[in-house]
Formats: sequence, C-alpha cells, structure tokens
Amino acid sequence: MGYRNKVLNQNFKLKRPNDEKFAYLWDPATILSILKSQVYCGDVIQSKGKLISYKVHKHIKNPKEEWVIVKNMHEPIIDRETFEKVQKALLDRDVKANQDGTLSIYAGHLKCADCKMSMTKRVGSKYKGKPRPHYHYACSTYCRKSKDLCTKHLIRDDILYEAILKAVKLQISLVIDIDTVIKETTNTKQVDFRKESLKNSIKKQEIEYEKQRKLKKSCYEDWKLGVIDETDYYEYNQSYVNKMKKLEEQILYLKEELMECESLKSNNEWIEKFKKYENITELSRNIIDDLIDNIYVHEDNKITIKFNYEDEYKTAIEYVKANNGIEISSVG
Ligand SMILES: [Zn+2]
Repeated sequence: MGYRNKVLNQNFKLKRPNDEKFAYLWDPATILSILKSQVYCGDVIQSKGKLISYKVHKHIKNPKEEWVIVKNMHEPIIDRETFEKVQKALLDRDVKANQDGTLSIYAGHLKCADCKMSMTKRVGSKYKGKPRPHYHYACSTYCRKSKDLCTKHLIRDDILYEAILKAVKLQISLVIDIDTVIKETTNTKQVDFRKESLKNSIKKQEIEYEKQRKLKKSCYEDWKLGVIDETDYYEYNQSYVNKMKKLEEQILYLKEELMECESLKSNNEWIEKFKKYENITELSRNIIDDLIDNIYVHEDNKITIKFNYEDEYKTAIEYVKANNGIEISSVG
C-alpha cells in the first residue's frame, strides 16, 4: 500500500486499482482531509459521529461542538503550531475547495454582499444522503464565525449558477455590441483622414518652431554685430522665446491627439477577452477568472456581479455616446 498507509499506519481504502503506481498518488481531497485532521497532531477525537441504529447501520455526523477532543494522546506527526497555522490558512484563504477537493469555479470571487467575506458551499440539509444533493452557498461569517455578525445569505447552487451564466452571457453580448458600434462609428477612413491632418499640422508647427529658433539666433548675431541695440535684442529675443513656448505646447497637444487616433484603430485587449467566450453554454473557472471581479450574494436571493474592465466598458460607452451625439446633431 501507499505511503500514507505505511507511514500513517492508517488503513485508507484506495479507490484506485491496488497497484504500486497508483498507491503513491495523492488526491486533493485526501490532502485536505489530512490537513484538517486533528489526529495528526496527536489528539484523539471521539463522538465525531454516532450510529443511529445498529440494524440500519446509518452513521450521522455530530456537530463539531459536540466532539470530545483529548489532546496529546499519541506521538504527533506534525507539531501543533504548524497544524494550527495550516488551519488558520485554510480558514483565511479566500479560495475554498469543494468537498471533493476540487476548486469551486467561483473560488475567490463569491462574496457576501453585506460583510464582503467569502461564501461557503454546503449540502442542503433536506437533501443530505440523497443521491443527488442540492448544494447551497451561505455567508462564511454567519456559518463559521458568528450568527450575530452577519445573516445567512443562503442561495441554492443551481439558482446561483443559472443567474451567473445568464449575466455573463448578457455582459458578453453587451461588450460585443459596443465593439461593433465602436467599429461602425470609428469610420476607418475618417480616422485616417484625421490622422493625416494631425500629422500635417504637427509638421507645420515644427517648421514654424524652427523658423522662430533661427530668428532668435540671428537676432543675437545682429546684436553682437551692432545692428540692433541691447534693448531691442532683449525685446525681440523675449518675443521669439514666447512664440517657441506656445508652439511647443501646441505640438505636444497635437501629438497626444494623434496617439488617441492610433489607439482607436488598434484592437482592445479587454474586448477580445469577452469575445473569446462568445456562445458559451456553461461556466468555467477560466471564464469567471477572466471576466469577473466579484459576485456579491444578497440576503434576498439577488446577486450583484462586478465584472472586470468596468472602467474600459464605461469609457467605450461614453465614446459611443459622444460620437453618436455628433451624428445625431449633424442629421438634425
Ligand atoms: Zn455576510
């Protein structure tokens, strides 16, 4: 048998074939259960569960509060400090594992709308022991810390899933729509024309700047040669300096506008992230990670989703509004 059976002297039942190469594989659920098990730091736990009937042989779990824990009963495998650190880390980390050890697709993104702490997944009590149990999410503060600190925020897993899927699909279609409108309103020819005229203006201003610079230089030479007196020199010189300063500002402004024009033509990375998931029929961890910042569950079974790239989306809408405004006023 595997390492865990040899070293931990526990008779784990392997679900995989009893083969050497399988025996040493660890699955996440086992690791999680070992991390959580107080037995490994030398304690003995009794009353963890009870048989309700010897005939039916049905075993039910006792609530944690009723467990009888006798500390330091045997040689610990890990020291208590490490064990407690691990427990704290498991409780504190935002990313919670499912009971089967896999990560929830919402891990790190599903929060209670009121206390902003993560939601915890649990089997609905009505369905315990049934072949296909319903899962619920509930506020972890309420479930694990104190019932005085927050309320339950209970929501059924399947209802939550459908709501998120619907919202994600809607958001994707909105982003795709806005992308289409941007492409329509930013007429490529118009952008190209604007770019050309900006480039021309920049060139003109740069020529003018060079002219002023030369005039300033020759003014200095004139003064040195005695063509103009000192008072005139300072007066002329100051006027050239002022003109050059103004031109510099104008050139900078035009260059910024040109950069804006160029960014309009390049594809927006954030839009591509949404477009990638066009036509999805189910949710995945990647979709949630890529598109969603946080999902907030309210007490009344309502959810609020904060999508990623909200600022970019707002800017895009404002851009479209501004550009449509021009079109409408020119038609009217
Ligand atoms: Zn809460």
